[in-house]
Amino acid sequence: MNSPPDRTAWLKGGGALCLNPPTPPRGAPWRLVLLGAPGVGKGSQADLLCERLGTCHLSTGDVFRAARRAPTGERSPAMQTAFECMHRGELVPDATVVSLVAERKACLHCAGGFVLDGFPRTVAQAEALEIMLEDQGVGLDAVFDYQLPLEEIVERLAGRRVCPVCKAIYHLTGHPPRIEGICDLCGGPLVQRDDDRLEAVYTRMEAYTATIEPLLAFYRQRRQLVVVPAHGSPQEVYERAWARAAVLRPGLAPAITPRTGPGGKP
Ligand code: AMP
Repeated sequence: MNSPPDRTAWLKGGGALCLNPPTPPRGAPWRLVLLGAPGVGKGSQADLLCERLGTCHLSTGDVFRAARRAPTGERSPAMQTAFECMHRGELVPDATVVSLVAERKACLHCAGGFVLDGFPRTVAQAEALEIMLEDQGVGLDAVFDYQLPLEEIVERLAGRRVCPVCKAIYHLTGHPPRIEGICDLCGGPLVQRDDDRLEAVYTRMEAYTATIEPLLAFYRQRRQLVVVPAHGSPQEVYERAWARAAVLRPGLAPAITPRTGPGGKP
């Protein structure tokens, strides 16, 4: 099996090229947007979708986290403000996020397609994305909105631990590592993400609930919205998403079985 696309162009921006671009699928590439509160499981769904559809995972949160690892002296004032917003669990200003995505808009017409995760988060961002997609001459196949009760999301986020070395994700009770505080896969020390601290979690949930309804209305109006209850295993959520997408648009082929090769629609 091929290794997943490396996302160099997306994570670095500034004209960087991917060393290992996605393999174009046999049919048209998939272009999806994932919505849902932080902690609802968008990241796991993005991984599944990318593995099976051959698309690239474009997460704005990942771009900010990658930029935060760069030396402090290289930070622009806009980036410094973005990091402060992230630390508090607040949304980064629209203008900063939109320019960050605009700088990477070549990724939107990537031959492998994309799964956008964490963008757009506001109607202003959705409008900016719509214009960028029009410029690139590409459209969206679907917008999946993953939904879970608030208490369940807070519990998921506050118990989440991540490995900063290999990016594996654990949960204190739901998916604990074999040895407390140590990554099963690479032996790295597990940490709590800055914005998974309980205070930040509540701020993030407030930011989410304040912006999500108009965003859902935006995509519902365009008949692109697929609401997906996100309880159950990642596989169950994946299957439910495509079953619901097929109700909205019968022509949209469900992608249930694992791909046998890179890049092809199942
Ligand atoms: P995520 O990994 O998507 O939960 O993003 C982590 C943090 O990055 C968020 O809590 C925000 O502070 C910031 N962020 C990521 N994407 C966006 C966006 N589209 N709009 C505003 N802030 C964002």
